Amino acid sequence: MVQGDPWKNALKQLDDACSILKIDKGVRDYLAEPNKVLRVKLPVKMDNGKIRVFIGFRSQHNNDRGPYKGGIRFFDPEGGLEYMEKEVKALSAWMTWKCAVVDVPLGGGKGGIYVNPKKEKLSENELERLTRRFAFAISEIIGPKKDIPAPDVYTTGKEMAQIMDVYSKLSGMENEPGVITGKPIALGGSLARNVATGLGCAYCIREAAKTIGLKLKGAKIVIQGYGNAGTFAAEYLEKMGAKIIAVSDSKGAIINPKGLDSKKVLEYKNKTGSVVGYPGSKKISTEELLTTKCDVLVPAALENQINANIAKKLQCKIIAEAANGPTMPEADPIIYGKKIMVLPDILANSGGVCISYLEWVQNNMGYYWTFDEVAKKMEDHITRGFKDTLALSRKYKIDMRRAAMVLAVNRVVEAFKAKGLWP
Ligand code: NAD
Repeated sequence: MVQGDPWKNALKQLDDACSILKIDKGVRDYLAEPNKVLRVKLPVKMDNGKIRVFIGFRSQHNNDRGPYKGGIRFFDPEGGLEYMEKEVKALSAWMTWKCAVVDVPLGGGKGGIYVNPKKEKLSENELERLTRRFAFAISEIIGPKKDIPAPDVYTTGKEMAQIMDVYSKLSGMENEPGVITGKPIALGGSLARNVATGLGCAYCIREAAKTIGLKLKGAKIVIQGYGNAGTFAAEYLEKMGAKIIAVSDSKGAIINPKGLDSKKVLEYKNKTGSVVGYPGSKKISTEELLTTKCDVLVPAALENQINANIAKKLQCKIIAEAANGPTMPEADPIIYGKKIMVLPDILANSGGVCISYLEWVQNNMGYYWTFDEVAKKMEDHITRGFKDTLALSRKYKIDMRRAAMVLAVNRVVEAFKAKGLWP
């Protein structure tokens, strides 16, 4: 989603949905602009005793359906600080729509610090001081009933635990787990968080397959990106009877038309650092991977992977966007013209936010569900999200990406209008 100007992309998608729904300019403008974007200065004492100032953001896009929800990333996009601000704003808007598509009663937020902890080799202590300073700086605007952050690029359960600790102590409580999700299990994290995005994506593919009359048993699957989302999508699709024929990571792509064993490929990758070289497979290019003849293509790596040229050569029946923004806007009409069903990112990778929502619910009630209970509840949200999107795609004769936006925007407008404006 970060091709060119992510904020412009977000507005374009909103405008498309507003014109289909005939939403007037005032409401459109209300939906476009985030409610609040906080930019904070973060002075940190480094290990060498010197002070270094970092900059952080939190964008709160819309909370008409519930508290803001969205990740915190530690990242340094090429475009610099100004680009990061736009990106965070756009990502917070996409969180609003993602929550609404799968009918999770939360709004959209996103934030982060302009820093690349891996590149800069920050020590653990420096990183902890920076994280806690950020938590302090945004503490006034977050909270279990206000804004509930989560992990994102280069942040993990460890940083979430530190943010929770700062917030809890500042608000005079020892433990306020509902302020953040993606926590370690010991602090009230949810079971199934690790598998959530891949499993949710597999549920979504299962529903799409039923719709187009594709049998998942023996269906051929290609996965770009063998990380968290990609490996669990592979594992669960395999459990549903499908055959993984090609996968890739940052080092390259491999194929075996007879099928790859998803778990063994992961073991191989963990041992050697890449899927490339896996016994019995052949190395292929990225373009060959994406355009391999298959039933389902799962882009689960980076944004902007499918351009117009690739789109023309695609030979799949379903594209399930586990990654955020893997398809460039120019490719969409070509894919639609080829009658390939696209499961857009805000639907196909919403398993993560569904489980985050369920983590927050468990924290708030102080009672914890089993893995199967959590997975079943997530499945219900995703299945309904798919069916509601499909119904609108048929009603308005539009592709699934625009249908998902129409569904989401309509749900937010309904909540906004029901409340009215005050003051
Ligand atoms: P990850 O870091 O665990 O995995 C990413 C994988 O992509 C790695 O295997 C990496 O080697 C591979 N990769 C990187 N560059 C590549 C390239 N050029 N070609 C092929 N593979 C390449 O990340 P993840 O959490 O699995 O996230 C993947 C995508 O899914 C991202 O777009 C992310 O925003 C999206 N997503 C993830 C979650 C989640 O809960 N993990 C939720 C929503 C969306």
